[in-house]
Amino acid sequence: MSSSFTATHEIKYLDEIKSLFAIDFDCLLSKETYSRPLRSYHLIKSEAQCQFFKKGSRCGQEHSHGFAVECINGQRVLIGNCCAFNHLGLDDDQVKKALLELGSAERISIRTHQINERLKDRTELITRVKNALKQLRHLETQIFRIREAFPEAVFENLVERWRRNSFQITWEYQITKKDETAKGKGAVERLWYPHICGFLKGLGLWLDLDAQGYQEKLYSFLHRVEAIPTKKRLTKAELLETEAIFRELGALSVIEREFGAQQKLIFDFLEPANLVLTVQLVKTQALRAKNVEAVQQLTSTLLGVRPERFVAEVDQDLKQRYGATGIRIAS
Ligand SMILES: [Zn+2]
Repeated sequence: MSSSFTATHEIKYLDEIKSLFAIDFDCLLSKETYSRPLRSYHLIKSEAQCQFFKKGSRCGQEHSHGFAVECINGQRVLIGNCCAFNHLGLDDDQVKKALLELGSAERISIRTHQINERLKDRTELITRVKNALKQLRHLETQIFRIREAFPEAVFENLVERWRRNSFQITWEYQITKKDETAKGKGAVERLWYPHICGFLKGLGLWLDLDAQGYQEKLYSFLHRVEAIPTKKRLTKAELLETEAIFRELGALSVIEREFGAQQKLIFDFLEPANLVLTVQLVKTQALRAKNVEAVQQLTSTLLGVRPERFVAEVDQDLKQRYGATGIRIAS
């Protein structure tokens, strides 16, 4: 059965069997002329005809699942799975065993081949995990920088807004109207109206990256990939373990995509026009001034005025725009 050990895939076409073995389609196989099985096949179409000789004639059954077998005189024929086990192998444990062993040897050979093919990419796989770790460190550096720049309360506000999907920043301005009608002369009417400052962009999972355990996941993956044996023939346990690792490849792609997505979000968040919105994120003047400092730090540009002055000008602009008598952050 040495041929079975080089099986790299399941045979699915009759033409493929023909190219592998010189099949003698006129020959009939009986229990007496049978020698050994060569290969099994699982054809897509039932295009093989059974050459087993039973009840005085050729079986002729068209089938998809069967065996190429060798006769004692060296001729090669095809026999359906049914005849192989129910007639040829009937009451003959030797034959049954040989057929079953062939099938199992082929399956192991095919699996080993597939894994060896993928092992060729082992180095590439390790590089991928290492790159993902590098990307993770890069994300962490940027997140640390953002975290350091903003007051803690503001960062928490960002996290909370991300969790609530609440990206709109709204302030309110107050319009004061004197009632000029004779009836209410001298009375004053004060009304608040909303002003949308903008929508915060770029909030995302990165705000809670630590909790995702990416580092642990990637290192565990790296160690397992590095532990894949590089020898050609693997034990059954090693095969199973290797297959399990390759199944995890899907998880690596998900992590890679997630890192890409978070990188894009951080990039959007750091856009100067977006960063300036954080000045309107809280009501406390001191915190707002600190946010101005954060914007300067993160954009590496000076806004040209002291932070307190910058906040005052933002408020002044808003009041002038509506002729408002007061402004406040929307609750
Ligand atoms: Zn048959």
